[in-house]
Amino acid sequence: MQTIIHWFRRDLRVSDNTALHEAWSRGNCVVPVFILDDAILQAADCAAARVAYQLGVLESLRKNLEALGHRLILRHGTPHEELVKLSRDVKADAVFTNRDYEPYAIARDRKVAGALYEAGVYFESFKDHVIWENREILTKAGEPYTVFTPYSRAWRAKGVPPPVPKLGRAKTPVPESVKSLPVPTSSDALGHRLRQQLPDAGEHAGLEVLKQFLADRVYRYDTSRNFPADEAGTSRLSPHFRFGTVGTRTVFAKLFAARDTAPPASDAACQVWETELIWREFYQQILANYPHVAERCFRPEYDDLKWSGTDAQFDAWCAGQTGFPIVDAAMRCLNATGGMHNRLRMIVAMFLTKDLLISWQRGERYFMQQLLDGELAANNGGWQWSAGCGTDAAPYFRIFNPVSQGEKFDPEGNFVRKWVPELRDAPAELIHQPWENPLLLARSKYPAPIVDHARQRERCLAMFKAVKAPTPKA
Ligand SMILES: Cc1cc2nc3c(=O)[nH]c(=O)nc-3n(C[C@H](O)[C@H](O)[C@H](O)COP(=O)(O)OP(=O)(O)OC[C@H]3O[C@@H](n4cnc5c(N)ncnc54)[C@H](O)[C@@H]3O)c2cc1C
Repeated sequence: MQTIIHWFRRDLRVSDNTALHEAWSRGNCVVPVFILDDAILQAADCAAARVAYQLGVLESLRKNLEALGHRLILRHGTPHEELVKLSRDVKADAVFTNRDYEPYAIARDRKVAGALYEAGVYFESFKDHVIWENREILTKAGEPYTVFTPYSRAWRAKGVPPPVPKLGRAKTPVPESVKSLPVPTSSDALGHRLRQQLPDAGEHAGLEVLKQFLADRVYRYDTSRNFPADEAGTSRLSPHFRFGTVGTRTVFAKLFAARDTAPPASDAACQVWETELIWREFYQQILANYPHVAERCFRPEYDDLKWSGTDAQFDAWCAGQTGFPIVDAAMRCLNATGGMHNRLRMIVAMFLTKDLLISWQRGERYFMQQLLDGELAANNGGWQWSAGCGTDAAPYFRIFNPVSQGEKFDPEGNFVRKWVPELRDAPAELIHQPWENPLLLARSKYPAPIVDHARQRERCLAMFKAVKAPTPKA
């Protein structure tokens, strides 16, 4: 083929990129394009942090492509219209892209395939975002797995393919006459005002984050991963997975290399991290196989739950003003940084659904409006898991106690002190339940708890018991 357009979406890198490598291998001229899509930019769950971060990623991608003699074409519009226009501009024979498993993306790509077909342009998509797609790991009965542990066993048994080669130098440059927008320097231009300080964006930054984590921190991941005050306790790679500034195969290849050179005692920690990476794939295949989860409970009987929390309680949760220090510290951290530790995501999600009795969908949407790494599959999976209506094999009556969770995972109260300055001087034994000392609470100006945990726990159990609880499938 002569000219192949590579349509970038969530794969914003030049190395270990399947469709991009295929385009370069099979074509004489690769035309790399990114399309700013208003359906995404103006959606109710679009986060300013993600928009701003993505612009940083695009600028870095533009430079990386330029270093290899390629020119990034940036367009703004409806993907199927822009791709047909660009195909005409460059006389493209084909458009290549990497697959995305979100319902919006699937519908969009169907439209693109139809429009390109009409225009006489070949369209091909590739697996890239995950190691194994939704129909590649099935039970003996040919069904998708809906419980994580057997899925992870089957996943491990299949092995991991190596990274694909980095994009080669441009064979034929994209003609200068082909128009491109400049990468906007601020998300304001796209209607999103950034409030947070963002981490470094782009492929070099992603590989550096991975390198530093695998240099030594991964070897203690099994013990460090649950403590939010330890900022080095997890990899912090999730924004790079979200925007594809690291290749999934590259991550596994480097993890295996780190594991193979480490003392055998570190093997367990590497395996624990590998399990987290498999969780990511698990939720991707759940979304692809059961797209109804994007709107409703994985287990349909829980769609009938009667949520009874109030708007005022929801607002207090969003603002970090519930009177439960670990919950409030986590929410204030999310609002200020666009990030939140996994343990805290579970705590606040369980608190919203099981203490405040507010539907998981409201929390899921709020997370998407804030999170830098926000993505449908993992966010939805995490919310449904926490609410007890998802794929989790554990029963709905697992309800976290926010006080004991705080005491266990923030024992000195350092995380709370950082984000809830009202409690900076509280002693460690009271920091997770300041109401136990009314004088301390009054002096601190920190709110009293907006609900009684023990009472809400009973109400939650009654709410779940009122709908039929099925036995989970293996
Ligand atoms: C309610 C809730 C909402 C969540 N929303 C998101 C989201 O929008 N985007 C997102 O990437 N993750 C989400 N997670 C999963 C998890 O919290 C983050 O992936 C993790 O905190 C990112 O930090 P890290 O990169 O340091 O992770 P590490 O602990 O270093 O893990 C490495 C990678 O494994 C993957 N991973 C880890 N845990 C999970 C998990 N439970 N589910 C799926 N993938 C996982 C991520 O890609 C992560 O970057 C959510 C979890 C919960 C409970």
